[in-house]
Amino acid sequence: MTSQVVVVGSGYAGAGAVKAFEDAVGEGEAELTWISEHDYHLVLHEVHRAIRNPAVEEKLMISVDEIMSEQSTFLEGRVVNVNTDERVVETAAGDAVEYDYLLLALGSTTAFFGIEGLKQHAHQLKGIEDARGIHEDVREAAANATRSDPARVVVGGAGLSGIQTAGEVAEYRDKHRAPIQITLVEGLDEVFPGNDPQVQNALRQRLEDADVEILTGEFISKADADAVYFGGGEDEDETTLPYDVLVWTGGITGQEELDGVGIKKHDRSNRVMAESDFTTSADRVFAIGDTALIEQGDDVAPPTAQAAWQAAEVAGENLARAARGAPLKSWRHDDKGTVISVGEKAVAHDVVGMPIKTFGGTPAKLLKKAIASRWIAKVSSAGRGVSAFADM
Ligand SMILES: Cc1cc2nc3c(=O)[nH]c(=O)nc-3n(C[C@H](O)[C@H](O)[C@H](O)COP(=O)(O)OP(=O)(O)OC[C@H]3O[C@@H](n4cnc5c(N)ncnc54)[C@H](O)[C@@H]3O)c2cc1C
Repeated sequence: MTSQVVVVGSGYAGAGAVKAFEDAVGEGEAELTWISEHDYHLVLHEVHRAIRNPAVEEKLMISVDEIMSEQSTFLEGRVVNVNTDERVVETAAGDAVEYDYLLLALGSTTAFFGIEGLKQHAHQLKGIEDARGIHEDVREAAANATRSDPARVVVGGAGLSGIQTAGEVAEYRDKHRAPIQITLVEGLDEVFPGNDPQVQNALRQRLEDADVEILTGEFISKADADAVYFGGGEDEDETTLPYDVLVWTGGITGQEELDGVGIKKHDRSNRVMAESDFTTSADRVFAIGDTALIEQGDDVAPPTAQAAWQAAEVAGENLARAARGAPLKSWRHDDKGTVISVGEKAVAHDVVGMPIKTFGGTPAKLLKKAIASRWIAKVSSAGRGVSAFADM
């Protein structure tokens, strides 16, 4: 009998897995239903570009029809539950889709760590609507500001999203000669925490050159409609940082739709625990991308687009293998380096094949563009990839 394969999510993990599955599956072996809350793939790792220039959106949103083959079925809907006993995926609209094999690739959601007022008052950046909202608020705040009383944009969290967001707001400020003051706040001791000091220093330098004020070692303890607060615990003075626009990119956590689903998750991050072949504690359920903590020896794969699309190639093939009863393949993350934008500039670090460990300038900028274009070409068409190059 033909197996029913279901993939949930149209990010790097879901879109990549759909393509890989379609390439690997034999005729009549399995049918694919692809479910996502959006009928497009969003190039999330470049979504910050839309903060500066919303016209970039069309380059970042790729219709699922451009990605999947006519043999597969797409269902637009928000998955609200997975019944792992009955093997059914349930959507908010009341659809119930049966599966023999399921791949969860729902990405992650923003972690607010219970910080009082943060969720209510901060923008997050996990989708195109978020980028639109930040753009609108920055534009409006700048329109109401003056050189002597500039609009204050505070970005919390100096990881990939926060650094690139601050860089885009700075680029917007310069392009429009807008009175905007930007502060990037990081609770740990340096920007891009946990990474090599060489890349941290290079990023700090680019951010400072772009006139972004950096506050490190400062944990936000509270936020209200006008300011974020630091300290304020016992024997601690509370300090205040007023803002007009607040963006929070300080961490990720698992999707709450999976909370009640009988699959083993990590205690703190609530992300699904997966083996290196993407199997989970639930029979016939696989997980990849930001949704999962994929075992890699003593460590887990990082929550990056690079890791998601690498994993997707093997996960898609594994779905086809599972359907035909073949042994599954294990996956090992191969870190090919990092390229991070600060507006029009970029910093590249540890890039495979490059003789210099950390570099900026035109080579890093072109590399950043090439990475995004290559992915877009891979999931859709070469023409689309080429046309996106200039805007990345
Ligand atoms: C601003 C920003 C910059 C970044 N920069 C980089 C970078 O430079 N390099 C890098 O490697 N990584 C970067 N990242 C991280 C990278 O984007 C993520 O690791 C990557 O998107 C994870 O891919 P994914 O497919 O697991 O999840 P996503 O890309 O988040 O995709 C999840 C998909 O699931 C869908 N979905 C979610 N919930 C449901 C539901 N309940 N029902 C149905 N569908 C659902 C979503 O709509 C989406 O289609 C950045 C992230 C951000 C936000």
